[in-house]
Parts: sequence; C-alpha cells; structure tokens
Amino acid sequence: HDEQAAAKAAAATADSGAPTIFDKIINKEIPSSIVYEDEKVLAFRDINPQAPVHVLVIPKVRDGLTELAKVTKLPYLYAEARHGEILGQLLYAARIVAEKEGILDGFRVVINSGPSACQSVYHLHLHVLGGRQMNWPPG
Ligand code: 5GP
Repeated sequence: HDEQAAAKAAAATADSGAPTIFDKIINKEIPSSIVYEDEKVLAFRDINPQAPVHVLVIPKVRDGLTELAKVTKLPYLYAEARHGEILGQLLYAARIVAEKEGILDGFRVVINSGPSACQSVYHLHLHVLGGRQMNWPPG
C-alpha cells in the first residue's frame, strides 16, 4: 500500500513535457534488461515486476503520445490517427515479447493512463504481464 501511495504521489506531480527515466534507458545511460529492440521500439524488464514476466514496451520517440489534458492539466494517453503505425509496432513487439518469454498461454497488455490509473512515468509504455494466473478485474 505504501508503494501504491508513492506511485500515486509520483503520478500526481509528473509533467508529460519533461524527459523521463525512460529516455535514459533508451539512450543506455542507465542499464536495463532488454528483451526486444528494433529501430522504433524498446522492450525491457520492469524493475519492480508484478508477475514472473513483466516487460515494458515503449516507443523510442515519445511523439506526443502522452499529453497534458487541456482542462485538467493531467497527463493521459493521447493517441491520434497519425500514431497508428507506432501503436501497431508496440503491439507487434508485445507479441514478440510474449513468444520469447513463453507466456502465449495467457498474458496481459496494460496501459495505465493518468494518475487515477497509477501511471507514474509519462512516456507511453505497454506493460506485458504473464507467467502466473492473471486475475480480473484488476485492482
Ligand atoms: P506506470 O506506473 O507508469 O504504468 O509504469 C511505470 C513502470 O516503470 C513501473 O512498473 C515501474 O516499476 C517501472 N520503472 C520505473 N523506473 C524504472 C527503471 O528505472 N527501470 C525499469 N526497468 N523500470 C522502471
């Protein structure tokens, strides 16, 4: 619960305009355990895994995919028609990750959007989770 509170606090103070820790991971300035990489996409293990397999899939270029809402000023997933190609590539990479990790029998792909969904890093990322029974509804 402490951890969740911390995540919410981080989410509440985040700003989608600033670089995030994921920029450093993309640039290899801080290490990560990479599962898949291509020109546009990077997939690496979550530092605080919530399942035996927990991989984050991110676009190398943020490209406005997380924006501040005009009214609330809160960051949220901001997909536009022009993002179709990169969004498809992220799901493609999620499938590759699931195959590599041996979780095709059941895996979950999650995007947390905004503070109320416990988003804490304002660079779009897909969570790929599996390797255990995933429950529904999620918390
Ligand atoms: P969110 O809560 O925004 O949906 O997910 C952000 C995720 O990034 C969290 O699950 C968190 O554990 C992970 N994370 C935060 N910082 C780092 C880091 O420096 N390295 C790695 N590998 N994962 C991180």
